[in-house]
Amino acid sequence: MRKTVLLALGALLAFCGSALADNFPSRPITIVVPFAAGGPSDAMARILAERMKLTLGRTVLVENITGAGGSIGVGRVVHAAPDGYTISFGHLGTHVANGAIYKLDYDLVTDLEPVVLLPSNPMIIVSSKAVPAKTLKELIAWLKARPEPAAAGTAGAGSGSHIAGLYFEKATGIKLQFVPYRGTAPALNDLMAGQIDLIVDQLSNSINQVRAGTIRGYAVTDDKRAASAPDIPTTDEAGLSGFHMTLWSGLWVPKGTPKEVVAKLNAAAVEALNDPQVQQRFASLGLQMPPADKLTPQALGDWQKAEIVKWWPMIKAAHVTLD
Ligand code: ASP
Repeated sequence: MRKTVLLALGALLAFCGSALADNFPSRPITIVVPFAAGGPSDAMARILAERMKLTLGRTVLVENITGAGGSIGVGRVVHAAPDGYTISFGHLGTHVANGAIYKLDYDLVTDLEPVVLLPSNPMIIVSSKAVPAKTLKELIAWLKARPEPAAAGTAGAGSGSHIAGLYFEKATGIKLQFVPYRGTAPALNDLMAGQIDLIVDQLSNSINQVRAGTIRGYAVTDDKRAASAPDIPTTDEAGLSGFHMTLWSGLWVPKGTPKEVVAKLNAAAVEALNDPQVQQRFASLGLQMPPADKLTPQALGDWQKAEIVKWWPMIKAAHVTLD
């Protein structure tokens, strides 16, 4: 009797799931960006949302839920209904590093369903104009000679700019004073105002200000120059050989979201990534497309797990404190 009831219940749930998937989407979808508006994650999510709307036939909103290195915004999605209407935008920081830094009330792998891998962004070492150094070598010498650590803006503990800053400390033997913001958009404002000294920032965030000459750009953390910033040397060229880091992003939904819904979201995102206009907008921000065979939900899941194995030991060894 009990078995029959359970079987019937299972069949009912499966039926409801497929009915939900058939009608999906029947109302607006929200992408939660866990960093400040106007920053690099926000910019990428908004370009994507605008194009995904055409495929899905529904408005795709972007909501900025910031704080604690993006872990608050990700948590909001983890605890949302698993119906595909609330999507988590995140990256190497929020969906890998945060698991090694915060006591999260969710598991980054088992409580989320991967949807799609998004473009990567090299980092760029930038400083305020008040910093006298003109080259990366001069910057490192200036940082080393200071009696107090320089102030480095980040988007919070565990964010991309923070991981890149930790990596910069490790590569140079310099100590930095990290200053957390709710995103690198407000950090960049303070850099321009000379309130902080530097950011190891996403290229897409800083590029326009470097071009405009309101901040200094020293080196891009990639093995080749960025097409969008051809005048900026690579870290290899600037004397910090092997200091490479690109910040990949992705989309996730809460665990238990029907497979058909995940497939529809994945298809809409892939269509957006293949749109030449979207590609052109991404390229002008210095964003690099993921390989075509890495655009399945499974590929993002595998990549995220591999990145956890790669980064957690270094992050844990850095003994990041949250105050
Ligand atoms: N992606 C973050 C932002 O949009 C910055 C970061 O992770 O460093 O502000």
